[in-house]
Amino acid sequence: MPKVQTARGGSAPFEFSAAASVLFDEDFSADGFVGDVKIFGEVEDVGRCFVVRGRIECRKTFTCDRCLTEACAEQVHNFDEEFDKSAAVDDVLDVTELLRDVLLAGQPMKNLCKADCLGLCPVCGANLNDGDCGCDRFTVDPRLASLQDFKLS
Ligand SMILES: [Zn+2]
Ligand SMILES: [Zn+2]
Repeated sequence: MPKVQTARGGSAPFEFSAAASVLFDEDFSADGFVGDVKIFGEVEDVGRCFVVRGRIECRKTFTCDRCLTEACAEQVHNFDEEFDKSAAVDDVLDVTELLRDVLLAGQPMKNLCKADCLGLCPVCGANLNDGDCGCDRFTVDPRLASLQDFKLS
């Protein structure tokens, strides 16, 4: 949905601030984006094409891959993309796809509440970020013990 007005021979600023579901579609908001997604930048007529550059700022809630707690992180994504001049309709460029792609490509492969998250105790399930639960987590499954010996020798 975000469309930017171009300025022939010059540059024009743009700014959007709306929920991800408004900017994109309902499916997108299901990914945990909270509040408004803020987008600002400028479109410049560089002669042979238009250059659209700027930044996306948003907040996302997610479940930590290691400790399974809910966490929230600020995200900033920069973009800088060329558009063929023929893409502009009545001097207006639809940048929805670009912004959606930037946002999707910028999502982390791993969702961690913090870089050094300790995760859950495999024995009792306690969140190890809250302190050590006291379990002996170094007892190796006997079926795996022989593999471990092999690795050490
Ligand atoms: Zn975590
Ligand atoms: Zn434990």
